[in-house]
Amino acid sequence: MAKLDVFLSASEIDVLTTQLAERISADYAKVLQPNEELLVVVTLKGALFFAADLMRKIQVPTRVDFVRLSSYGARTSSSGTVKVIMDLEEDPRGQHILVLDEIVDSGRTLSFLFDRIRNAEPKSVKLCALLSKPSRREVQVETHYLGREVEDKFLVGYGLDHAERYRSLKDIYALDSTH
Ligand code: 5GP
Ligand code: MG
Repeated sequence: MAKLDVFLSASEIDVLTTQLAERISADYAKVLQPNEELLVVVTLKGALFFAADLMRKIQVPTRVDFVRLSSYGARTSSSGTVKVIMDLEEDPRGQHILVLDEIVDSGRTLSFLFDRIRNAEPKSVKLCALLSKPSRREVQVETHYLGREVEDKFLVGYGLDHAERYRSLKDIYALDSTH
């Protein structure tokens, strides 16, 4: 039986999303022209709840688009290869893009996505991640807005799954599969 320990509570997550939204709002208020909107690119499925909470706190005009890249499946370590399962609807060209991910692990998925977006020549592209596990990094990715660094634990809840379970939990838990 898997054991779940609360790692980050819903109220702690709320503090982090509020702080991130304040920084993002202040920065993009200076960058966006009156006719421009920030294009928020949400990495499915994991960033679903993070995006919903963060976007409602961002005080500049936004649009939203989604991308889904290959993920872990039922395993707890990255396969190293990234595939596009669902591509963006919008053309990033000439837009200010903010990519949202709930957690940066090896960095492979995001470095793949950033290369693709940069090839489309956006005006700017930045990353906002709720969590990051720096000890797991294999590919460098610049996280412009980061909620918190975490140690190497497998986390579930608040969008994070294990074999598609646990995504809708309000808190984030460390999954201890040895129990
Ligand atoms: P990366 O390409 O950085 O190795 O993996 C990024 C994606 O893997 C994250 O956006 C997330 O969807 C998934 N991932 C990374 N660490 C965890 C974790 O601790 N728990 C879960 N459920 N997914 C994770
Ligand atoms: Mg993700």
